[in-house]
Amino acid sequence: MKKFNKTSLLALVLTLGTLFPLSTNVFAEESHSHWGYGGAANPTQWGQIKKEFALCESGRDQSPIDLKNAVESTPAKIDFDYKSSPLVVVNNGHTIQVNYAPGSSVTINGEKYSLVQFHFHTPSEHEVNSKALAMELHLVHRNEAGKLAVVGVMLTKGAANPLIDTIWKNIPSAGKTDTVSSNINATDLLPKGKSYYSYDGSLTTPPCSEGVKWNVFVEPMTVSEEQIEAFEKLYQVDARPIQPSNGRVIQLHR
Ligand SMILES: [Zn+2]
Repeated sequence: MKKFNKTSLLALVLTLGTLFPLSTNVFAEESHSHWGYGGAANPTQWGQIKKEFALCESGRDQSPIDLKNAVESTPAKIDFDYKSSPLVVVNNGHTIQVNYAPGSSVTINGEKYSLVQFHFHTPSEHEVNSKALAMELHLVHRNEAGKLAVVGVMLTKGAANPLIDTIWKNIPSAGKTDTVSSNINATDLLPKGKSYYSYDGSLTTPPCSEGVKWNVFVEPMTVSEEQIEAFEKLYQVDARPIQPSNGRVIQLHR
């Protein structure tokens, strides 16, 4: 780069801008809406970054929350119908996400939602009785009306999870997507015990949209210390702090 003087560098930028005007605009938009977990764009600032993120600050039904003082409710009845899917791993700059093939779903209270993707947080975003765990898995589902239902699985230190091993081995560099020739089944990420907490919340990342049905399993799954450390090398912290419950009822289904 030393050989470039300022004039030739400017000429290059102008030429690229003419050749790729769209990508230049996209880049400008991206840098404007930057958010993160530390520094100037940390979670306490999300609501100020752009007006589309306002709910992160003004919302009354935000997630995550401390799952405590739960009220005994109807028995557990989430029906899982997960099929296998090609493994598609996305390193999106905020987390490691696995995009899921169409055709897998859950039915919660008679409402069917399709599995779209799952991703990971460290430490856990929700707390159970004011305690965070090592990590948390979010299985994100959407119904035909566009309503979201997330199934959360707390991950605690213990035996390694074989499916997570497969995912970790195929993480692309930041901003990239890796499609692998092997198939996975998200059923391998669900605990045996099907008791769960439920409450009405939001996305835990900008734009923090509300109306998200949250369902968090009581029984955690285990991940090994090595698996936790491998994730932390990429994302040391990617968890939004606990939000006020504002009197919301947490139901316990078991
Ligand atoms: Zn999440």
